[in-house]
Amino acid sequence: MNDLFSVKDKIVVVTGGGGILCGTMAKALAAGGAKVAILDLFEAAATKVADEIKTKGGTAIPVLCNVLDKTSIEQARDKVVATFGRVDVLINGAGGNKKEATTSPQMSFFDLPAEAIRFVFDLNFLGTLLPSQVFGKLMVEQKAGNILNISSMNAIRPLTKIPAYSAAKAAISNFTQWLAVHMCQNYDKDIRVNAIAPGFFLTEQNRFLLTDEKTGALTPRGETVVGHTPMGRFGSPDELLGAMFWLLSEASKFVTGVTIPVDGGFSACCGV
Ligand code: NAD
Repeated sequence: MNDLFSVKDKIVVVTGGGGILCGTMAKALAAGGAKVAILDLFEAAATKVADEIKTKGGTAIPVLCNVLDKTSIEQARDKVVATFGRVDVLINGAGGNKKEATTSPQMSFFDLPAEAIRFVFDLNFLGTLLPSQVFGKLMVEQKAGNILNISSMNAIRPLTKIPAYSAAKAAISNFTQWLAVHMCQNYDKDIRVNAIAPGFFLTEQNRFLLTDEKTGALTPRGETVVGHTPMGRFGSPDELLGAMFWLLSEASKFVTGVTIPVDGGFSACCGV
């Protein structure tokens, strides 16, 4: 059973690895014996996660990388290959929303600035596609690989207020299917592409929408989210790990092109 779900000695690249969800994934992968490259726009955040892994006896390197800049991704790939020799897994975790691309009483849909919409769409969608080009090509050369994208509940049904983030995450679920088929049909049947769609986990990108900045109490939106989650609470980042280990190991070797919700039942609940 342990072998079936093993990630031991796999070389894993995690974009957005300095963040809350993907930092948790990186640490769990290292604890499972994987060698992890933590790619992030903020080197200090990547270094903090890598140092934590190394303190516990794991193997990790921090790599400065902007997932919106192909040259930067190629430089990151070169650094990972120079250090570890190959790449077995890519987790496309960099992403998030932005206040300026969010409707509010002060900002109507009609006035949302195009640059904010473009920023959020690019960060999530292009920021998944470009690393998939760079590391996917390497996987084709290696004749094996595994890509894990991070989608969202917004991909299934858009939440109010965040049109660009919703559309971008829907694009990620769609792209997950597209790339899974493309890899099998054109390159290698051993290159798999899947996604996780997390439900609601309190992190820096959504804290301002779900909790009050001053008191920390749930906002009406936060209460609605919890009310529509049959399990009645936000998720904890470590609750993504089971789905991640399954999708990155032999346990799921006949699975490609799927997006797995990890959401306390949110996507199953119509609210009535
Ligand atoms: P986070 O903000 O803690 O982490 C995101 C990380 O991405 C940060 O470390 C940030 O520095 C990095 N990043 C931002 N722009 C980058 C760029 N251009 N290049 C490289 N790195 C960049 O957020 P999180 O909640 O841990 O989110 C991780 C992923 O999970 C995101 O794709 C997010 O959309 C998705 N997600 C989160 C939730 C949730 O409830 N938190 C729900 C569904 C999906």
